[in-house]
Amino acid sequence: MLFGQIPGQTEIKQHLISTAQSGRISHARLFFGVEGVGALPLAVAYAQYINCENKQPTDSCGQCSSCLKFEKLAHPDLHFVVPVATTKKITGKPTTDDFITEWREAFTTNPFLSLDDWLDKLDIENKQVAINVEESQNIIKKLSLRAYESEYKIMVVWMIEKMNAAASNKLLKILEEPPDKTLFILVCENSDSILPTIISRTQLLKIKPIEGAEMAQYLEFLHNIPAAQAKNIAFLAGGSYREAQRLLNQETDANFPVFRQWMRDCYGNKVQSLYTWVEGFAKEGREAQKSFLIYALGVIRECIMYNYLGEDKVKLTGEELTFVKQFGPFVTNSIGPRIIAELNRACEHVERNANPKVLFLDISLTVSDLLKQASK
Ligand SMILES: [Zn+2]
Repeated sequence: MLFGQIPGQTEIKQHLISTAQSGRISHARLFFGVEGVGALPLAVAYAQYINCENKQPTDSCGQCSSCLKFEKLAHPDLHFVVPVATTKKITGKPTTDDFITEWREAFTTNPFLSLDDWLDKLDIENKQVAINVEESQNIIKKLSLRAYESEYKIMVVWMIEKMNAAASNKLLKILEEPPDKTLFILVCENSDSILPTIISRTQLLKIKPIEGAEMAQYLEFLHNIPAAQAKNIAFLAGGSYREAQRLLNQETDANFPVFRQWMRDCYGNKVQSLYTWVEGFAKEGREAQKSFLIYALGVIRECIMYNYLGEDKVKLTGEELTFVKQFGPFVTNSIGPRIIAELNRACEHVERNANPKVLFLDISLTVSDLLKQASK
């Protein structure tokens, strides 16, 4: 991964390059950036730059033997830890090593991949992924060995927020006193779910959304689209390159048709239909339920945005935009914040393993009541 393959983030890239050039390499860094802004590709580009045998002023050379191995994520001194779960094939206590081929494929196909993309790749939709204590044992084992070929051994941990407490606690000591010439790059999208003791042992690097003009330029050049379209997509993507990819492919979120039907049934107070939906949806995995609720939150927010600021500020296209224009007026300012509060509460309850039938029936009836109140 070259820095040049990542849109924008000029300041961050310069900062990382200057630390590598001056040898001021911190042994543990936390790259924090929301989905699609490039925290993971920046981490890998930084790792590649540190071990490049012919560093250029603004990027890795891309040609030395180290760079060629980094290109395939196959360098023996580059290690990955990512959230995993058991699958039909991999049972017992899975670790990243069990999925390393899938991981290399997923990252090289799209370095801006989201957690959902990774779940799709693993085909484990019905389970929650995690980084377990066995993984921490693996990390310690791997880092106790000498670097094979390069100056630095580098451990990239993606989605460190998925690391459970036992695994985090086991990692603390090595994070505080890592073996010589070892570098941890922890990558996260949500720093609230990380143990404070982990954060306090790392140097935080906040990665901001990709700047609009830089994103537009990149889209125009790389995807060969007209300047006006590139500008529009860059605006709608809000600094997330993953979002820009979705918009380019006109992917409508898979949650959309389900959400639209749910809202129609709530609005029409179709209790029988809601019961049937809840029965089925309760059998989906927790990740799918959470993803649905987060999607619902996003659309309701866009409805409120539409009411206050008009169509120009709505970050949706196609059918989703049409829906927001039709449904938005029903999400009045008296009920909009209450629907949002209900959806947030439901997200928390899914996390805590609440009974999904009770939970989704309850929120369906509440939203139905709120919509009824608003239409009076
Ligand atoms: Zn190189």
